[in-house]
Amino acid sequence: RPHILWFRRDLRLADNPALAQAAAGGQPLIPLYILDDSAGGPLGGAQRWWLHHSLAALDAALRRLGSALVLRRGPAADVLERVAEETGADTVHWNRLYDPAAIARDTALKAALTTRGITVASFNAALLFEPWTIRNQSGRPFKVFTPFWKACLAAPAPDAPLPAPPRLAPASLPAGERLDEWALRPRAPDWAAGFAPCWQPGEAGAGARLGDFLDGAVGRYKAARDRPDLAATSRLSPHLAFGEIGPRQVWHAVHHASGREPAAAPGAAQFLAEIGWREFSYHLLFHQPQMPERPLRAEFAAFPWAADGDGLAAWRRGLTGYPIVDAGMRELWQTGWMHNRVRMIAASFLVKDLLVPWQRGEAWFRETLLDADVASNAASWQWVAGCGADAAPYFRIFNPVLQGEKFDPEGHYIRRFVPELAPLPAAALHRPWAQADLARRCGVTIGRDYPAPIIDHGFARRRALAALATLKQDS
Ligand code: FAD
Repeated sequence: RPHILWFRRDLRLADNPALAQAAAGGQPLIPLYILDDSAGGPLGGAQRWWLHHSLAALDAALRRLGSALVLRRGPAADVLERVAEETGADTVHWNRLYDPAAIARDTALKAALTTRGITVASFNAALLFEPWTIRNQSGRPFKVFTPFWKACLAAPAPDAPLPAPPRLAPASLPAGERLDEWALRPRAPDWAAGFAPCWQPGEAGAGARLGDFLDGAVGRYKAARDRPDLAATSRLSPHLAFGEIGPRQVWHAVHHASGREPAAAPGAAQFLAEIGWREFSYHLLFHQPQMPERPLRAEFAAFPWAADGDGLAAWRRGLTGYPIVDAGMRELWQTGWMHNRVRMIAASFLVKDLLVPWQRGEAWFRETLLDADVASNAASWQWVAGCGADAAPYFRIFNPVLQGEKFDPEGHYIRRFVPELAPLPAAALHRPWAQADLARRCGVTIGRDYPAPIIDHGFARRRALAALATLKQDS
């Protein structure tokens, strides 16, 4: 009888343990993808664009193995039962997801399928280590990154990645829907027009990105990774978010490229540590499932946020009057991605300068990031807001002018994404309002061509610290 292979956030053929096991049995295989907006809410708009292209790439890759991807829409439980009925399948293989909504759904699903006599086989394709295996000396999960990562590096190395199966046993596939019917890409206006030149969704694109990075930028990664004006990071994040490449593949490729000893190569070691932050975020989420909604530090539930609707709107549109923040927000809108340093600056501005609750920023990132990831996004927002595990102390408030001067010293990044400021010399780019006459001589009128700051950072900083002080008095 046929087996169903249910693809989820593992849109790849290599190092896909569910696929490897299903293919090894030799039974006819039904590769299935279900668009299920009921579990964990619908995907954000940017990720729907990516999903379209990634599914097309996966289908093409499966066709090369003599199969194809079956597309169905609806609650996963209904679809799986229907497909099993239509095909007589008696086993479903999937790779595990580790976020609370998916865990709840999959647990219920497994029980329902088992009572119908359908076997479920599940695997880990998403993490280096199962979240329950990395614990501190008292047997509890880590709350701080550095000892967590040390424990990971001391654990037995993750298994070597599995090869893609050379071919799949022929199966008579049930009817599926057409990808275009799902209308995952925007129609008019096509706000995703800027994505295609930057990205190649799919497993081949992921492999090419990793290869290019390990052949080039990894050497200077440690020194240059904080510079948004340099292409110094891997940009693997959307590929990892969709599982077009897995962390085990990255781990072993880095070891291979650095002669099996990444610790001796600072760029490689730092890069692996960032993969470690992704891992840490997932382990945190597994042990603290409230992380996407509620602060991990409970006292922050009483934080006196402001209801700054205008500020939030200006932030989203990249019109705050702080060039580095605006460049980041526009990079996000145009390319579906934002440099990590600028994510920190922009997020800090929203949460601390505007006192907008971090959950609003998290939601906007979920809608607009191609790499939106329930664990990394929530953990990072809580880190910036100062209410997360191992967070930056709340009183450390990013100064958007000094951050811009330090990390975009020539202003190339700002000029690219805020072109109306391009005529300004670098010295004036990061605080154009303070040199309004010079700006005017360059043809840029602050307040007309580019906004004046929507808030004074000095005032905002004092206000944020006062807000924090109320919390301390309360607790
Ligand atoms: P590289 O520097 O090349 O790092 C390699 C990989 O390590 C990344 O692809 C990513 O998978 C992982 N990684 C790197 N930094 C982090 C980090 N701080 N936390 C967790 N994983 C990390 N990352 C997401 O993947 N999805 C998100 O939704 C997300 N939201 C964020 C929100 C905020 C407010 C901030 C400050 C950071 C967020 N990050 C998120 C983390 C980080 O910004 C991105 O992973 C990184 O910029 C991706 O670019 P890259 O692939 O070139 O990274």
